Amino acid sequence: MKRTRRLSALAAALCAALLLSACSGAAPAREKTEVTPMSSESLYVKKVDGLGEDFILGMDVSSVLAEERSGVRYFDFDGAEKDLFEILAANGINMIRVRVWNDPYDASGSGYGGGNCDVAAAAEIGRRAAAQGMKLLVDFHYSDFWADPGKQFAPKAWASMTIEEKTEAVYAFTKESLETIRAAGAEIGMVQLGNETNGSLCGERTWFNIQYLMAAGSRAVRETCPDALVAVHFANPENAESYASYAKKLDYYALDYDVFASSYYPYWHGTLDNLASVLSDIAEQYGKKVMVMETSYAFTPDDTDFSGNTISAGSAVAKPWPYTVQGQANAVRAVIDTIANRTTNGIGVVYWEGAWISVGTESWEENHAKWERDGSGWASSFAAEYDPNDAGKYFGGSAVDNQAFFDAQGRALESLKVFALVRTGNELAPVPDALEDARARFDLTAEIALPDTVEAVMSDDSRRSVPVKWELDAAMAEKMHAAAGVYEIAGTAEGQSVRCLVTMEEMNLLPNGSFEDGTLEPWTLIDRGGADELGIENKTLNSLDGDCNLHFWSAKSGSVDFDAEQTLTDLEAGTYRFSISIQGGDGGETEIFAYVKKDGETAATAPLTVTSFNNWATAELSGIVLAEGQSLTVGIRVRCAGAGNGAWGMIDAAALNRQG
Ligand code: CA
Repeated sequence: MKRTRRLSALAAALCAALLLSACSGAAPAREKTEVTPMSSESLYVKKVDGLGEDFILGMDVSSVLAEERSGVRYFDFDGAEKDLFEILAANGINMIRVRVWNDPYDASGSGYGGGNCDVAAAAEIGRRAAAQGMKLLVDFHYSDFWADPGKQFAPKAWASMTIEEKTEAVYAFTKESLETIRAAGAEIGMVQLGNETNGSLCGERTWFNIQYLMAAGSRAVRETCPDALVAVHFANPENAESYASYAKKLDYYALDYDVFASSYYPYWHGTLDNLASVLSDIAEQYGKKVMVMETSYAFTPDDTDFSGNTISAGSAVAKPWPYTVQGQANAVRAVIDTIANRTTNGIGVVYWEGAWISVGTESWEENHAKWERDGSGWASSFAAEYDPNDAGKYFGGSAVDNQAFFDAQGRALESLKVFALVRTGNELAPVPDALEDARARFDLTAEIALPDTVEAVMSDDSRRSVPVKWELDAAMAEKMHAAAGVYEIAGTAEGQSVRCLVTMEEMNLLPNGSFEDGTLEPWTLIDRGGADELGIENKTLNSLDGDCNLHFWSAKSGSVDFDAEQTLTDLEAGTYRFSISIQGGDGGETEIFAYVKKDGETAATAPLTVTSFNNWATAELSGIVLAEGQSLTVGIRVRCAGAGNGAWGMIDAAALNRQG
């Protein structure tokens, strides 16, 4: 069924192409949707200076047709149901981005999902965008389904082609697709040669071959849409060297393109300062325009469609703004300001899938039926034949419904106004928007004295300490004194609820056991291998306990070979327990163990292994009986032969506890 409908839509579009001979001449001029002067009584927006009329404020809504098939409707701020494109245009969006997959269907015509974004869908989205005065940004994946740094599969029909045949196929597909999209009435403003093409594209993994494909796509764009900008698109700007190498390769091969574009997800992609620096370097060195091609931010940690989201309350990612409607707007405003004012040749920012919300039923089963039927989830089970290891296993709904500009019922959030308000500003008096969790740590025997204040994140993104009242009664305190662990204490400040995460721990007799002093003292490091990096790292995400850890990395085989230890000479006679944790990877053959020595003689060891990031292994040596006057040495031995990019790891949370 679906396949038939898709083909007939294509046929209709091709007929229209012939009638309009769309490739010559400009599309008929259209009235721009009036952006009425925007105001908000609750959303704080600091004006972004110097935003030109043509600065791109884009939105990717590739899933919209599938969403509508699943019954999703969109409503303006006053509750009036409207065409999504009309709402976006009225809120300052001037370009719509759409991904294009060659053939996102299985042999029986069932869609892979993710919007089933074929050429016909792009043409329809382009037509509806143009009807509201918005240009179209065409994002060719040159794949039948999701292409990103992790996967760049060639389309089924191209899988066995030689590079010469594939180059010709890219040229023909780009040309025909753009003709079809234009014939539908779209006004094509920009075209991407692949999506997040970090060193691979369309099944090719050498730049020699990738540039052939990109050059063919570029030639097709120039011939078909001479007024459109040609863009290349990469991810992971936090790797400045990778970006510099991509730009250098493209220059070496003299690729004809205009825009070097980057994804920028604040959770994973480094700071805005780094983004500005990395893109400005490329803009200046090669005379290119630069932009953010994808960004997004969560307005709530909560999921609404029974299909887990990429970002939730427990996500171990950077969180520069709270997950609130105001936080989402502040994130968008910061990215726009960075590209407009702190980046050389910055031309715009595109938000990714700002309308991909729940399909609205009360259960996973009913939603699943819609995702399968309409392609409105990120992947359907039918994608298994193309991508068995990811989509084929984890198919489901929207992973970004908490990053849209609409709530689960399709009502526009106040944050959508940010795109219009950055031009005028809406600088209301700051109010507390969110409260930051407090943290405290006590020995089991110590008094539990919780902090008097917590940090409020204000609507203008400043911080203010505000008084807090905790709900900690005597019974709870008694329970906490009885057992080590992390306890959550509820509190109230500024009329909002807040938590204090309290760690109760046994007295740790090991000074600086978690490296929180920020120095090695009083640890002794015996470096036998001459590792490239071996020392304290201050990075919360990489640490098990607190902010710091003992980090190692080394490229050369066998160069990770060290002991880290402490010797205590003034312990009382008694029984003790030593524990220490490690995470890491690329170790190759390893010999890692925790050890204790009495008067310098090894008394016990416990083996450890490293596997992957965030998989901490803990060794515990208990029942260590120490006599009066004996010294105790505790430590960890790490030796890795190394593999891949070199062995790496972090050591943290060493503790020495008295057992008896
Ligand atoms: Ca979801």
